[in-house]
Order: sequence, then structure tokens, then C-alpha cells
Amino acid sequence: MATNGAVSNSNNSNMEGRQKKKAKQKEPLRRTKTKETWLKRGDVHGPSTVYVQVLGAGSRDNSASLYVFSEYNRYLFNCGEGTQRLMQEHKLKAARLDNILLTRLSWENVGGLSGMILTLKETGVPECVLSGPPQLENFLSAIKSFCGPLEDIKLNEHRGVGSRSRSSGEGGRSLTESVQSVRALCSKNYVCPRPAAGPQRGTDAGENRSVVLELIFNPKTRDPSLVVSFICKLNPKKGNFLVSEAKELGLPVGTAAIGPLIKALKDGRSVEYEGREIRPEQVCTPTDPGPVFLVVECPSEKFIRSVCTNQQHVSGTEDPAALVVHLTPESVLSSERYQRWMESFPSSTEHLILNEHARTVHNIRSYKLQAQLHMVHPEVFPPLRHYRPQAALHVPNVRAECLLKFQLRPTLGWNRSVQCTCTTRFINSHHTQPAVTIDGFRAKKYPKHSSVSCFLLADEAEQFPEVVFLGTGSALPMKTRNVSGTLLNISASQSVLLDCGEGTFGQLCRHYGDEVDQAMSKINTIFISHMHADHHTGLLKLLYQRKRALSTLGKPDSPVFLLGPGYIMTWLNQYHQACEEILRHINFISNKCFFPNAEVTWPKTLSIIQSLLKKNGLDKVETCLVRHCKPAYACSLTHGSGWRLAFSGDTMPCDAFVSIGTGATLLIHEATLEDALEEEAVEKRHSTTSQAIGIGMKMNAEFIMLNHFSQRYAKIPMFSADFSDRVGISFDHMRVRFRDLKLLPSLTPALKALFAEDLSEMEEQRDKRELRNTKTAAPDFEPQKNKTHSKSPLK
Ligand SMILES: [Zn+2]
Ligand SMILES: [Zn+2]
Repeated sequence: MATNGAVSNSNNSNMEGRQKKKAKQKEPLRRTKTKETWLKRGDVHGPSTVYVQVLGAGSRDNSASLYVFSEYNRYLFNCGEGTQRLMQEHKLKAARLDNILLTRLSWENVGGLSGMILTLKETGVPECVLSGPPQLENFLSAIKSFCGPLEDIKLNEHRGVGSRSRSSGEGGRSLTESVQSVRALCSKNYVCPRPAAGPQRGTDAGENRSVVLELIFNPKTRDPSLVVSFICKLNPKKGNFLVSEAKELGLPVGTAAIGPLIKALKDGRSVEYEGREIRPEQVCTPTDPGPVFLVVECPSEKFIRSVCTNQQHVSGTEDPAALVVHLTPESVLSSERYQRWMESFPSSTEHLILNEHARTVHNIRSYKLQAQLHMVHPEVFPPLRHYRPQAALHVPNVRAECLLKFQLRPTLGWNRSVQCTCTTRFINSHHTQPAVTIDGFRAKKYPKHSSVSCFLLADEAEQFPEVVFLGTGSALPMKTRNVSGTLLNISASQSVLLDCGEGTFGQLCRHYGDEVDQAMSKINTIFISHMHADHHTGLLKLLYQRKRALSTLGKPDSPVFLLGPGYIMTWLNQYHQACEEILRHINFISNKCFFPNAEVTWPKTLSIIQSLLKKNGLDKVETCLVRHCKPAYACSLTHGSGWRLAFSGDTMPCDAFVSIGTGATLLIHEATLEDALEEEAVEKRHSTTSQAIGIGMKMNAEFIMLNHFSQRYAKIPMFSADFSDRVGISFDHMRVRFRDLKLLPSLTPALKALFAEDLSEMEEQRDKRELRNTKTAAPDFEPQKNKTHSKSPLK
């Protein structure tokens, strides 16, 4: 495929704030070494601390994911959109992951995987084992169209057949546990248990049947009928040798002779010493056989029979499961058969449910920040909302909450010590109250009286157009700024989305709460500026959720107009063929068709363009190539009522963009870096604050909103001298109507007061950097030099 040629450097070249790459790489290397030492030692002990922790509880804004910790390994079960962001917020280092397991190839489970792999690659993780259904391989080859070659990182794929050996590749010897996967098929009510392949374990069932199964599967095509469950068993942990008991029995404690005796006894063998038989239980605490936990996805009623009749789920291991994690919707849980199956486990088995009925806040930082901003202006920064599903059915179990832990060792049971507590009262007492006391904030926090009333008096007709900033950070989704996504609400019924980074749908959920379906159903057009992961990997979730919204609201299903670089179709075609159906949700038009001098003659394209314009009441849509990776585009939309919006995507200052955006009512321009980092901005082909403002001036834009800030400006970017009454900075979840844009600069003093500490810290850093740069000839950011967008091999 032409895919490798189409590679842009993607995230890795886009990773501002990653200067310390070398230092970071030490961490994974150190871990590899430690692991080797453990393996060399020969007798591998089971780990002494292990827990299963909920990361994404499966709510609509955060799909289900589990993190499993042991002192030897870190596992991640499923990696939907936003998983990486949660790990970053809750300080679970992605660089430590060595296993990612997927229960099914659906976007719900893999939406965040490309971003995660880019991060692992960037951080220098030498190896990561991916396990899941056979189509996983196709997924990995499809993401190469924008992730680039993945040779730097050794991705060991396991197709989820039989048990896996550990990532260290030491034939079946596992540092933590054995993981056995079981396939369940919906269509044929057919279950195929595979025997565990590891030397230490084995089950009798199904060798012949699994051969049949191999024939049925064509791993090159998509197969929605397949789920994989994981049966995980911890390695046994040997008992401790009790010295005082041994002394009492007269064993030669403290001499060389005791070594072999201890080894035999700890291995569970009796020994003879001075004519007497010493049994292990006399001098050792009992061996912990290693608890078992199951991760089972049963996505719909069609899978119930297959999952519930699978003997391996109950008796796949000698020991009953301590924990069963169900990735199971309410409709399945309510079925009698599924409930019977749950009851067939012993009463000591705990059940943990992850689905949309989870009521938990995941992105706490974001809620807290918004509560503070809300005090600056209640309309521009509306409070974040919760998606409240219909009341859940009653099943005896534990409902997932973000960060909830089930401890497997040293003791067995729930551990709620670190759960998220995020209530309105908590936010008020911990975040809004202290902000009110900040020097000068109270005086500055509300704009002039007249401004406030402007917001409140706006009637329906004056509400549009309106812009909702969904993601204003660059490169990686981080706790306070998600990656690119800007919603333009043109009218009460039509919206356009400008770029769609990972997690854009989750942001919409938190912004619109229960009204998210309405908001989704209005989106009729999506513009993707370029193929960097921070601009397009949220697209599939958006398309699937839009379809769901339309059907929930009883509206007719209609494909979205997708404007993007041609290469986006390489990725979408591959995903469609080998993973999940997607193409019927889009009407694709290449960005090139909107060049000012483009001659589109193909009737079908012409008619799509016409209906796109008509639907949105637009007179004109124009695009141009910009100075970033190749190809990267900016666009401008001109409405029948006279307003124009110009959107830069990622770019250095670009004259072609000035030309298509001339006289814009609103310019949204990237301002990745502060002015003092101009050199770095050139290397990465981005703009500085003043460059972005300069383009707005050249364009004669009425108002300039800055976005796409480097994640080093987590809360607030640095201001430059040329900020005027025509410039505003964006925050995630900021909502502003065109008619109110001019009021934004009046919020700046309050914002500066609120984030005074952050601003002075950044100023301090800048001063230090300048001092260093004058002292040494070599610039601070030398190591990044050979990794720029300019090296993008496209075209
Ligand atoms: Zn970007
Ligand atoms: Zn980019």
C-alpha cells in the first residue's frame, strides 16, 4: 500500500514539551533490565502486590478500560478514546505498560490505541505485547497510514489464541500471571475454548474444534461476531520460611547446609534431616496459589448464549475466580440467562460491571478548571455536565467508578482508598472558594455590567453562529486541554466540526450532558485539516455516535460531509475493510476540491458540494495548502448572511491562508508556542502567539481566537505585547457567540489574576532559558532538531 509513503511524522514530531526524551527513555530500559534479572534468577516468584483498577468506567464519555498493576508488569485491558488522557491525569505512566489486551475489535475498545502506540514509540518503550482478536493485525496495519512505521517499538501481537507467554518471551514463563483467552462467537452460538499453551497449564477441551475455528476465520476481513475473554491467573507465591520454627526443629539455620533444605521446603517437598521427616507446612507459611480474575465482554444479547455456555469461563482454571469484570450493557445484564450465569459463580466471586450506567467523574481536573473559569464568566464558561443514563437495573454487583481498585494481593478485596471524589460541593470548597480569595480576582471576575446583560439578552436569532472550543491543546490529550476539535454551531439545526482529535466525543458529552445526542445530530460537516493524530483520530467515534444519536432521536440517517486530505481515505478504507463498517457514514470530498482555483467537473462531487453549501447556508467554502506537514490545509467558510470564519489548522504564518480568510469575522489560528520559542516553532512548523496575531492583522480579521497551545501551557498560554481588543485565547469548553466576541478581552484581567501563579512560573522559566541561551552557544532544544514536520516524507 501507499501507506508508508503517506506517513507524516504525526504525534512524535508534534510533541511539544518532550525535550527530555533521552531522560525518559532511561525508564523503560531500566525496567527491561530489571525484568531480565528476575528471569535469570530462575525461580520466579509470583508478585506480592497486584490489583485491578478501573480506568474508564464505560460511561458514554469514557469507554471501559482496566489497568492491572503488579510490581513486575502493567496491563491495560482495552484502550478506547481518552484512555491515555485518563492515565496522564491519574498518574499511571503509559511508558510502563507492557501488555495491552483487547476484548473485541470495536472502536469503543481501540479508539485510543493509535495515540497510545505513538506515545509508547515516542517514549522509547522497547516492547509492548498486544493481544486480542485476529483483526488486531489489520488494525495495526491500517494505522500505519498515519502513525508511520512501527518498527521502533516491538509490538508483539497475540491473536488471542491459547495462553500467552509473557512479554519477555521466555516460553510461557510468566512474571505475573498466565492469561488465557477464550473466544466467543455470536452468530453461530459457537464457543471455542483453546487449551492453554503454556507448559504449566492445560485444559482438555477443544483441540479439534479450534482447528475448525481457524478455518472459519478469515482474519483479513472484519468479523463483528467475535469477542475474546481473558482468564488471568496470578503465579503462585511461595510461602515464607519460618526461621524460629526451623530452629526449634533443630534445622541447621545459619549454616550453608540450610540452603538446599529451604529451597525444597518452599517448593512444597518434604525433606529428611538427621533421620527425621520435615514437612513444608511445619516451617513454611502456605503457598498462595494465585487468585484468578476474568475479563469478559458480552456486547449484546447475541453473545449471551456463547458467553454463558462457555465452561472455561467458570471452570477454565482449577480455582474459582475472585473477580469477574463484566464489560456488559444493561440489556444483557437484565437477561435471565446472563444472571443465571453470574449466579453460577461461587458466592465468594465479586462481580464488577463496566457500562454506560456508571456514574462517575473521570476527568476531574477538567471539571475543576471549568468551575473556576465559570466564575470568570458564567456564559462563556458554562459548567460541565454529566451524562445521566436511565436508571440502572438491579443486579448484585459492584458498579465501576474511576480508579476503583480490586486488590488481588497481598489481601483480596475492594480498595476504595483512591477513588475519585468529585462532587459539586467538593469542587466549590476546594477550587472555587480559594479562587475568590485570590488578590484582585473578585474585583475583576465579572465584566462590565453591560457586557453581562448582552450575553443574557441575546435572543434565539442572535445566538448563532456560536463556537464551542472542544479541544485547544496540541500533540497529546492532556488533563486540562484535549487535542483539536472546534464546533461551529451555524444555526439551531446545523453544525460544522473543525478537526476531530481523539476524545472529541467525550468532550461533547461533558459539554452537552444529556443533550449530547441533539448536538451530535446537528453536525452535518466535518473538516479535517491534516493527518496528525491530534486532529483526526476522534473521527470514527464521532461518526458512530452520530449515527446512534440520529437513531435515538428518530431522525433519518444521513452521511456526514467529510472534507479532508485524500490520505484520510486510505485509513478509512482499510479500517472499513478489516475492522468495522464506516464508509456509509460519510460523503467524502477532498480538501483540494475547495481550492479557490479548483476546477471540479465530476458531477457527483459538484452535487455533494452544492448540498453541503445549501445545508449550511454557506456561500463559499475555500481551502488552501498551509506550511506544516504535507498536505495540511486551512479553510474559510463564508455564510450567506455575511460572516466569514477562517480556520488555520496547524501552520507557520501562511500567505495563502491570509488570502482565503481576508476580512474574516472570526479567525481561529493556532498559536502553539510563546514568542520566545520562535526557533522551536520553525522547527515544528507551527506559529508563535505574535505570528498568529500578525496573520489576523494581515487578514484584517475582526477578531482573532488563538488555540492549539502546546501542552506546556496547561492552564493559560503566555500573553504577548501585541494582544489587543481583537484577540482572545481559547480554553476547552469555552462557548462564544460571534456577536459577543468583542467582549472577550474584558475577561483577560480576571484570567490573569486567576492563573497568576502559572503565568509567573512560565515567565520565570522563560527568563532562565534566555539566561542559559546567552551563556551557551548551543540552543536548548537541540535534540529535537532532526524531528520536525518539515521532514515529513509525504509527496
Ligand atoms: Zn496539531
Ligand atoms: Zn500537525
